[in-house]
Amino acid sequence: MGVFNHAEFQDHEALHFFTDEPTGLQAIIAIHSTALGPAAGGCRRWTYASEADALTDVLRLSRGMTYKNAVAGLPFGGGKAVILAAESAPKSAQLFAAFGRAVDSLAGRYITAEDVGMSVTDMRHIGEHTQYVSGLPQSDGSAGGDPSPWTALGVFLGIEAAVKERLGKDSVNGLTVAVQGVGHVGFHLCHLLHEAGASLLVADVNRDSLAKISAELPVDIVASTKILYADADVLAPCALGNILTSATIPKIKAQVIAGAANNQLSTQDDGARLSKRNILYAPDYVINAGGIINVSHEYHGNSSEDRVRSDIDQIPGRLQAIFAAANETGRSTDELADKMARRLIAAGGKQQEASA
Ligand code: NAD
Repeated sequence: MGVFNHAEFQDHEALHFFTDEPTGLQAIIAIHSTALGPAAGGCRRWTYASEADALTDVLRLSRGMTYKNAVAGLPFGGGKAVILAAESAPKSAQLFAAFGRAVDSLAGRYITAEDVGMSVTDMRHIGEHTQYVSGLPQSDGSAGGDPSPWTALGVFLGIEAAVKERLGKDSVNGLTVAVQGVGHVGFHLCHLLHEAGASLLVADVNRDSLAKISAELPVDIVASTKILYADADVLAPCALGNILTSATIPKIKAQVIAGAANNQLSTQDDGARLSKRNILYAPDYVINAGGIINVSHEYHGNSSEDRVRSDIDQIPGRLQAIFAAANETGRSTDELADKMARRLIAAGGKQQEASA
């Protein structure tokens, strides 16, 4: 398994591998960039088919965090952690303690929080062993806690901006939205969409997640193999990445793709493919920044939920700027978002050097 010549290794600053024999912990922490501040990004616990898949995931996710944090205007670089889920390493306070010590050993170069497969309780265990953790519950009105409702809010506002752009509609009222994955973010997003009058098609590979959403909202359940191709106005991917590919894109019916999942595009060519099909794609790391905005306010302290909300209100404007640039230049939205991120990182890096 090569690292430096890995297709997803793009000038990552550091890659750390951690093991802990008593708990079976195997984890990788990737620090892509600290040009704008300490590398911040969630921790994912997932059953990977191979170690190579885990490495690919953490490399892609950490780079995405560098771009996400830059575009959201946060004083953070980009990093990410993955814990390799296995029967030999079940979830336990001890496992997360070992992970907390791993994070702590990086002395603040990486700050962790929730991602797929992790909960607020897990973060509490991690937080007993390191201060470099966010996503912990705070007292009423203060920024912090589970980032997923905030991610969902940003995605909801972003969907509104995208349907305005592509469908000329002022709201999602009367539209059909297909939501792939109704875990933490998908669940909250469905609530916001339902309250705004949208009809919902949902899919999940986890029966409990489907049972939970069906008990609360009128949703139509679609097979997880079919949700991408559902007859819907908007497709909101809220599960895992790598779903928009040369094989899936030709079959998608929705005119708008706007959801929380990180790394939705399999390759850069897929952004151009969507653009050619006139499907409006809201770049994932721009629309899904609500959670990290909340994490940032919590981490830096003394902030309120009102501040978080007002920062999340900036997300639709950023998307509108990208959509306008795409109309003007004929380039794909993901390419323009990457360009915006790289410009901000270069400018911020220079500023840091000057003030050092
Ligand atoms: P989660 O683990 O709570 O939910 C993901 C859901 O997707 C689960 O219910 C899972 O069963 C389901 N799923 C997995 N594969 C699927 C498939 N092939 N088809 C249908 N469903 C499938 O995770 P989450 O926190 O809700 O995050 C969802 C996505 O959003 C992830 O890609 C994550 O990286 C991204 N994201 C999350 C946050 C956050 O605040 N939690 C912030 C930014 C981005």
